[in-house]
Amino acid sequence: MSLNVINSAYLVAAVLFILGLKMMAHPRTAVKGNVWSAVGMLIAIVFTLWDRDIVDYKLILVGVLIGSGVGMLLALKIQMTAMPQMVALLNGFGGAASTLVAGVELMTASPQDFMNMQFLVAVGATGVIGAVTFWGSYVAFDKLQEFIFKGNPIHFKGQQALNILLLLACIVVCVLIVLNPADAFLYWILVAIASVLGVLFVIPVGGADMPVVVCLLNSYSGMAGCATGFVINNNALIIAGALVGSSGIILSDIMCRAMNRSLMNVLLGVIGPTEGSASADSIYAGKIKSVTAEEIAMLFDAANRVLIVPGYGLAVSQAQHVVRDLAGLLESKGITVEYGIHPVAGRMPGHMNVLLAEADVPYDKLKEMDEVNPSMPTVDVAIVVGANDVVNPMARTDPKCVIGGMPIIDVDRARTVVVIKRSLSPGFAGIPNPLFANDNTLMFFADGKKAFLDLIAAVKAS
Ligand code: NDP
Repeated sequence: MSLNVINSAYLVAAVLFILGLKMMAHPRTAVKGNVWSAVGMLIAIVFTLWDRDIVDYKLILVGVLIGSGVGMLLALKIQMTAMPQMVALLNGFGGAASTLVAGVELMTASPQDFMNMQFLVAVGATGVIGAVTFWGSYVAFDKLQEFIFKGNPIHFKGQQALNILLLLACIVVCVLIVLNPADAFLYWILVAIASVLGVLFVIPVGGADMPVVVCLLNSYSGMAGCATGFVINNNALIIAGALVGSSGIILSDIMCRAMNRSLMNVLLGVIGPTEGSASADSIYAGKIKSVTAEEIAMLFDAANRVLIVPGYGLAVSQAQHVVRDLAGLLESKGITVEYGIHPVAGRMPGHMNVLLAEADVPYDKLKEMDEVNPSMPTVDVAIVVGANDVVNPMARTDPKCVIGGMPIIDVDRARTVVVIKRSLSPGFAGIPNPLFANDNTLMFFADGKKAFLDLIAAVKAS
């Protein structure tokens, strides 16, 4: 097939990727954007296979069947709360695939390829980025799943120096590969060093920084794919990889701002300030006011504006449908109900948006943090359901605590705050929350879904 036809098809695919990405920026068009991007990928795959007649289609079909089967099984079985682990794992698979493709290409390369600088540099880059992505993603998955590693950061003396040393070693081995490409063993040494770097890169990251790392690894998987595109001379892969790489970096930057982490610190594995804050006992002692559903229903009688602030506990209790039902009930009484969404509420970017969309909550009712905070004093009742870190005022008042400086939803500035959770247990960052002890805060200790069912019954009965 003529190169012009192939490149034209890749151009169409690239345009579809870009338009798809643009549509994914808004929940209303996100599903359509996903379909457009998938069609772009289908075009890229069909034309690539068509172009390369050396390919064994039977083997590809077997791979597609196995991969689709495993993918479908994972997608059906995975809990909504375990989605970040799944994303981390999928990023890792991308890195591993790129590493293996570059390795095989080097092992089967012709003497002519050995003279090709673009090919050799791309092989080295793929080996490093791919292996870091795979092992880094595995550790992120493991930490979120608490399989071998726990969520806590792991530090040891000389960690940064060792990381820099490993990075330098990778560069040296890359140069050796360029000088002596026939020795494929060098490539696997490079992969081994980069694998250690990948593990060391993620183990110091704990709690609040993990979403940034997962986004960053997503970006790395794109960069590995892009480098592989240069290895196998495939423009579609170069474009798709570059798009994933750059969008991942942009998302990481947005996440960093939302958590007040610097991207460079995350890249270097430096975590946020962790110096000791006040203990839970000293914050909560004698100041916690617990309420019942009936008492909260009475608050709604005098309310004009209610703000629901969901967090990770909403996902755990799968309360999104009952939350929407209560909102509908309150709206039927003339109360304005909106949702305040923090960018890192839950365990993955957009977690709350996905859950609430699943329950058909209208998108225009979802308000971003910057939109709700200025008008917080006019909120009569802020209902915090399963959120903790993202509404913790210590982020504002204690710069030395683990979430110090992280922007939060300022529910403490609402007239009354109702916090729905099962206990006084801390959130993901593992620190107490002075919000629970505030004068204007009422605690409703219950599972999120059960609490909303009780509230619906109480509002109906009032
Ligand atoms: P948090 O993890 O801070 O708090 C969740 C709260 O939910 C807990 O305090 C828990 O309290 C409560 N909870 C758990 N199960 C239930 C239930 N069944 N019913 C009611 N409540 C429940 O959540 P946030 O959303 O406020 O903050 C997210 C945190 O996760 C941030 O620190 C963020 O940095 C981090 N993170 C975010 C990611 C993202 O991309 N969004 C990814 C990874 C981490 P109790 O046990 O008492 O019920």
